[in-house]
Amino acid sequence: MENSIKAEIREMHPKKIVTYSRNVFIPLTNACRNRCHYCGFRSDNPILMNPDEVRDLLTRAKNASEALFTFGEKPEVVKEIRVSLSNIGYSSFLEYIIDMNRLAIDLGKLPHTNAGILSYSELKKLKPWNASMGLMLEQAIELPCHADSPGKKPEKRTKVIKNAGKLQIPFTTGILVGIGENFEDDLYSIEVIKELHLNYDHIQECIIQNFSPKKGTPMEDFPPPSAERMLKIVREARRILPEDVEVQIPPNLVKDIRPFLKEGAGDIGGISDVTIDHINPEAPWPSIEKIERCLNGEFVLKERLPVYPKYIKRGWYGSMTEDLIKRLSDDRGYKKDRKNTRGNVER
Ligand code: SF4
Repeated sequence: MENSIKAEIREMHPKKIVTYSRNVFIPLTNACRNRCHYCGFRSDNPILMNPDEVRDLLTRAKNASEALFTFGEKPEVVKEIRVSLSNIGYSSFLEYIIDMNRLAIDLGKLPHTNAGILSYSELKKLKPWNASMGLMLEQAIELPCHADSPGKKPEKRTKVIKNAGKLQIPFTTGILVGIGENFEDDLYSIEVIKELHLNYDHIQECIIQNFSPKKGTPMEDFPPPSAERMLKIVREARRILPEDVEVQIPPNLVKDIRPFLKEGAGDIGGISDVTIDHINPEAPWPSIEKIERCLNGEFVLKERLPVYPKYIKRGWYGSMTEDLIKRLSDDRGYKKDRKNTRGNVER
């Protein structure tokens, strides 16, 4: 019955429901131990956002319910970051993430942290402060573009996703399409995600993300996957994955979301009216109004929280986010109507 919330709404409203989350993107640092050949985010002269900068972003993001913490993996390998952390009074990056998660909750945003490879005990420490967490599997096979990225070993990534399942963390994962794999590899990676979910029942969504070349990277001339290939993968993902794992497509990376929704995608991820997509800065978020126009009355857009209704019902979210989730969610587990949250309209 947990899986039928969308179906229940669909009965009331026969059009297909498409969900999204309003977020604020907080790239705590662009330091990273990996060197993925397609990455335009990582820097050799990295910075660490300080707590005032984080607070400023969170405060400006008046419409957001989600604080998306995404940053490089194991940034403490970089000396400058260790010094910056020490200068603001932290002895570990994990400690800093937790404090910034806490700040987000205090300011009314639900943290969703993507921290790369983490141990079981690190995930356990982050869980109470997060509504959900995420890690892209990317591909379940070794690829040349990951030759300089120890954190992109498939077995390391599946281990993190497994451990998140053992800890009952509602989880977002997905594949990155067009980074040197072939169509069968894409299907295999989706099968791996399916198996992880069948074992732990914790994957709320699977992102099907297209590679987008970045200037100045080793893969700047690598061709991005075609829309036809992406459509085929979305169709296959919907066929392979269990019904309760939503298929997500990023609305800023495809020209038209409608064909993808017709192939079975049901979520368009996080959208911000305050921050850019720091991983794909060349691709601005479409406005909600633009998305509505694109849906052309064939689909109904519904705002959700970073944790899906099924996991709200189960109480799998972090304990420190419980009060805020209760305040922000409606009786089905979606985002409460803005008019009713604080008695006024924020848009
Ligand atoms: S894609 Fe992510 S993991 Fe790879 S180098 Fe960039 S920030 Fe690091």
